[in-house]
Amino acid sequence: MAANQSNTMKKQYGGSTEETKYRLLYVIRRIIPIQVRTAPWNCLLENGLGIMHGLSFALSVAATQHLFDTISDAAAGKAGYRECVISLLILAAVTFGQQIINGVQNFHGIGVLLPKSSGRLTELIQKKVRRIDPVKFEDTGFLDDLNKAKEGIRAITMFCMLVFVCVSFYGVYFLAVGIYLFRLKPVLLLTLLLAFVPAMLAQTVHVKVFANLEEESAPLRRESDYYQKAICDREYFKETRILGAYGFFYQRFEETMKALTGRIWEAERRTAVLQLLLNLTTFAGMGLSAYMLFTATMLGEITVGMFAAVFAALTQIFAIMQEVVMKQIGGMNRDMGKVVNFIRLLDMPERGGEAGEADFAKGIVAENISFAYPGRDAVSVKNVSIHIADGETIAIVGENGAGKSTLVRLLTGIYRPTEGRVLVGGLDTALYSPASVLKRTSAVFQKYQRYKMTLGENVAISDCTAGADSGRIGSVLDEAGFEKSMAKLEDMLSPEYGGVDISGGQWQRVAIARGLYRRNGFIVLDEPTSAIDPVEETRVYKQFARLAEGKCALIVTHRIGSARLANRIVVMEAGEIVDVGTHEELIARPGQYAKMWEAQAQWYER
Ligand code: ATP
Repeated sequence: MAANQSNTMKKQYGGSTEETKYRLLYVIRRIIPIQVRTAPWNCLLENGLGIMHGLSFALSVAATQHLFDTISDAAAGKAGYRECVISLLILAAVTFGQQIINGVQNFHGIGVLLPKSSGRLTELIQKKVRRIDPVKFEDTGFLDDLNKAKEGIRAITMFCMLVFVCVSFYGVYFLAVGIYLFRLKPVLLLTLLLAFVPAMLAQTVHVKVFANLEEESAPLRRESDYYQKAICDREYFKETRILGAYGFFYQRFEETMKALTGRIWEAERRTAVLQLLLNLTTFAGMGLSAYMLFTATMLGEITVGMFAAVFAALTQIFAIMQEVVMKQIGGMNRDMGKVVNFIRLLDMPERGGEAGEADFAKGIVAENISFAYPGRDAVSVKNVSIHIADGETIAIVGENGAGKSTLVRLLTGIYRPTEGRVLVGGLDTALYSPASVLKRTSAVFQKYQRYKMTLGENVAISDCTAGADSGRIGSVLDEAGFEKSMAKLEDMLSPEYGGVDISGGQWQRVAIARGLYRRNGFIVLDEPTSAIDPVEETRVYKQFARLAEGKCALIVTHRIGSARLANRIVVMEAGEIVDVGTHEELIARPGQYAKMWEAQAQWYER
């Protein structure tokens, strides 16, 4: 527990190595090139519009001064009606242009840049996830990070747009107005800048509060999403209704939502106090500046036009400065946590390796392998050695939790052992890339997928590179025992998409057909047959054994009728192999297999 906590702390932004690594400037340096690559021309346009927008604001200050000076001159008889109208028209044109640029920039940022970049960033995450070691998906910490990174997709573009706005729009505006004010009265500029120092400090605290909030609320969010799924999702709702578990899940959902909103409220409360402080400072700075302007005009240091222009601009400058601090920097701070999660995901080590071609004549070899799931001390597979020779079918039997599925994941190379090594067709799974190791392996797992696609696509998806071959799809469906009257190849297997639904048993046959369809040198069936009766399962496995002839094959089963079809049977108990032999050899000696046979023999003809 303590170790876990310290791990979480390390990820936060408070004094750890990661905190130093993911500082604002570092994040900006990392994220801007990523953002620019997603839409280079749009980023350029966004900045161009920002500069024009900033200049138009500065220009309006000068135009206001010009108007008031002209009016003041007209009052003194030094200028005419015509000059006043021209000045007014200039100010009107600048203000109109400013509004147009503002509108175009908003439309471009939110309507064009954001969706375009979000799409590209999603693609970036998907590509990254593809390269991450599959075993990471067993790690809840990683799943949290992944969820948080997904939330970062939109946040990145928003964050970068804020950076762009700060540099191009505010940068240009403050530089131009700063020069104007400095030339007018240097102390005026200084007062304005100083008024915002406490506000900046308040924002720094704001960053920390919200970054921590982001980190802490991810597990709660994951939990509440899950309860919501349990209440509303199609795969859960029948059972939830039958069990009468709606109230149970709703209560859990409510509790997590309460905890989540409680944390958000607490963070908002703490930052609201700072906000009050900020407003007071702003107000004081504004009052002081107005007073200085007034005295400068009275002393004749500045013209009435300048007074009027700066006085009118003061409200605008303060509004903009407050916008920078509260909205933009505040927005950057809020998004910072999500953006860091995104970068963290990109920085995650990938499972790479050499390219190679498996030679299944060498079979599948496991040498003294052990494996523990991430975050678990107990090993699920203990010191296992096994050799599946070319053309051999091995069955793994054992009680629930004996480690059969874990061993399958190791032998296929999806997971890599924590100790020992696995060679798939001669390729060491620790050294070769997953693409090389898995290229000619086919596996059907207990938890297979029910793709919301047509029947044909549900099968052909296992061999996308080859292009769908309806003749082969039909024959593997036959071999898997799929009831043809249930659906045609082009039928959509999802009522949600206007298609048909098929029974659990038929779905299992579709999954088996999918496994058979993939061209392979090593094929695995990890008990995808729970919804099929024992005799029918034996028929399917018989068919499978016939198709697997000449290949390395592995079947996991609780049913002896299927296990006996294999050349050798491996019996597992508590992660270890406790016995190996043929069906005849194993029933002849006392042990778990013989007991299983006694219990199940009546299902089959001896
Ligand atoms: P079953 O017949 O019920 O499918 P099995 O023999 O296939 O069981 P495994 O699923 O390999 O057994 O599980 C072996 C051990 O590993 C069990 O103690 C199980 O609790 C643990 N285990 C399995 N999956 C995970 C996981 N994702 N994270 C942590 N531990 C796991």
